[in-house]
Amino acid sequence: MRDFLETLAEIVGAGNCLTEDQARQKYDRDITGFYKGRSLAVVRPKNTAEVAAIMAAAYGARVPVVPLSGNTGLAGGGYPGDDGRSIILSLERMNKIVEINTKSHIAIVEAGVILADLHRAVEAHDLVFPLLFGARGSCMIGGNLATNAGGSNVVRYGNTRALCLGLEVVLPDGEIVDMMSELHKDNTGYDLRDLFIGSEGTLGVITGAVLKLFPKPKAYATAMVAVSDMAAALALLHAMQAASGGGVEAFEYMPRGYFAHLQAIDPKAPMPFAPLADINIMIEVAATMPGDATPLPDGSLPVANRLEETLARFLESGEILDAVVARSEAQRAEMWRQREMAFEVSMHLGMPVTNDVAVPLDKVEDFLNRADASLRREFGSVEPIVVAHLGDGNLHYSVWVDPDASGVMDPATKTRIYTLVEDVVESLGGSFSAEHGIGLAKKGTMARRKNRAAVSLMRRIKAAVDPENIMNPGKTLPEG
Ligand SMILES: Cc1cc2nc3c(=O)[nH]c(=O)nc-3n(C[C@H](O)[C@H](O)[C@H](O)COP(=O)(O)OP(=O)(O)OC[C@H]3O[C@@H](n4cnc5c(N)ncnc54)[C@H](O)[C@@H]3O)c2cc1C
Repeated sequence: MRDFLETLAEIVGAGNCLTEDQARQKYDRDITGFYKGRSLAVVRPKNTAEVAAIMAAAYGARVPVVPLSGNTGLAGGGYPGDDGRSIILSLERMNKIVEINTKSHIAIVEAGVILADLHRAVEAHDLVFPLLFGARGSCMIGGNLATNAGGSNVVRYGNTRALCLGLEVVLPDGEIVDMMSELHKDNTGYDLRDLFIGSEGTLGVITGAVLKLFPKPKAYATAMVAVSDMAAALALLHAMQAASGGGVEAFEYMPRGYFAHLQAIDPKAPMPFAPLADINIMIEVAATMPGDATPLPDGSLPVANRLEETLARFLESGEILDAVVARSEAQRAEMWRQREMAFEVSMHLGMPVTNDVAVPLDKVEDFLNRADASLRREFGSVEPIVVAHLGDGNLHYSVWVDPDASGVMDPATKTRIYTLVEDVVESLGGSFSAEHGIGLAKKGTMARRKNRAAVSLMRRIKAAVDPENIMNPGKTLPEG
């Protein structure tokens, strides 16, 4: 192993081959603190050639490699094991935005670019890269692609897969696959780009990407709305899409329980309604056309007027109970802050059983009723903390049952909770992993629920691309 470590140090420089416990610590544990491992070393290459050399060395020495970007993943995909055998390959030094092409609306980036840095860089050109969620200050494009991340803007722009035109990948044996296409159409054989997107580091290391950019909206209209039931929420979504020409950028569900927990950790947070409503929706509509964003003689904005007219109509019909429209950028920012506290809110009682599920839009209410009822039948009183990207049917449903003093649940109870929720998801034609991926957290579910032929095909692909099983072994695919 000493030879191998010396080779790594030669490739990246001794200062970028971290072997001391203290230096490795922040890479060896995940953001929740639940997965704490021990790697052999953390290597920090500065370019694709160095990644290729590291992979060739690891392949030769049969050393497992765990790619790591921002380390904000919520499925344990970056866990290096605890036997000190794996190396972590950190993309953090590959953080160059190579090009922002304003003529073709693309960005060419290295995999270690932090999402928020890309946001800032493209905004300077009046463009957006519309992938948005709370971890944007730390997560990186490589990790976003490897997990096929979603977030709050999926309702308008799709998930990371939909935002990517090209990819550069280093295979387990060090071969570089250049798929850095800028094309919107390219039907030349199997779509290898899409094979690597969402593969959670199990097939290769993503080193670069060509990403789609969009015109920066010229104005936003944002509101918090208390609705009477989920059917009314969906009706509001569709009405607003119709009124704004598909301009709904975010449609986020925060029930009463979410705000109650938010208040527990942030007592000064202003509540949208007093008393709190059962069902609260944060809606944001964007104007991309100048006419929608140009103030009228009375100073109002057409995009905001359209939102308010729609809300007024729904108030009159009783489908919504109350609404607060953001009157300033500060009010809008506060609404977003409260939504983006979801991670802290769901973690504040300890490590929950988190279910990141998707169901068809018209089945969200069914899911909530049936999952709640099923858990209560089994465990008595249970109050899941729920928050959802409702516009795309993705719910984060976090459950605790009698956490012990350390806030940790026993594995059998966790599995039982997962299983009960999976039953409901499956019966509604949903997915047990909407946007966080499988990693380690959902491997059991993958074994229980994923179509067997699909898992078998994935295993054959894995064996073909990674015959020595060195790429993030033990993740995503259940043991055969
Ligand atoms: C506060 C908070 C809010 C979040 N909100 C959302 C949300 O709304 N939507 C959502 O989808 N996710 C969300 N997440 C989860 C997480 O931020 C995303 O999964 C994100 O895409 C992970 O990016 P990362 O750079 O941190 O990846 P990492 O955590 O570093 O890695 C994640 C996985 O990808 C693999 N990987 C990383 N980089 C590469 C690479 N270059 N090549 C190959 N494999 C690689 C790793 O091995 C691991 O399996 C949230 C997390 C937090 C903490």
